[in-house]
Amino acid sequence: MDVLKQLQSELAAFAIERDWDQFHSPKNLVMALSGEVGELTELFQWLTAEQSERAVLTDETVKAVEEEMADVLLYLLRLGDRLHIDVAAAAQAKIKLNAEKYPVDKSKGNAVKYSRREK
Ligand SMILES: [Mg+2]
Repeated sequence: MDVLKQLQSELAAFAIERDWDQFHSPKNLVMALSGEVGELTELFQWLTAEQSERAVLTDETVKAVEEEMADVLLYLLRLGDRLHIDVAAAAQAKIKLNAEKYPVDKSKGNAVKYSRREK
């Protein structure tokens, strides 16, 4: 079993043991996911780009970032489970799509979407 499916299975068991399935509607999971993204965002709020680099973050901040990233991933996986979406397959498909959308020859070194520059 791959690691994401294993995590989904552990999350499902965690919810069932606590009778929390009733609270895990896709709507509630999206709200919770958004809240966790907010918690992750808060850790970087007001930092300069340079201050957000690993070399200058405190170990305590990196630990907090790690925990919030885990919260984000877990809610995303739980949402995928409830909607029967294979999150890993969806991510792989999206990477493929992005590679087609942003060909290297038109995108290298430029953060602006090439189709917008050509308009
Ligand atoms: Mg959190």
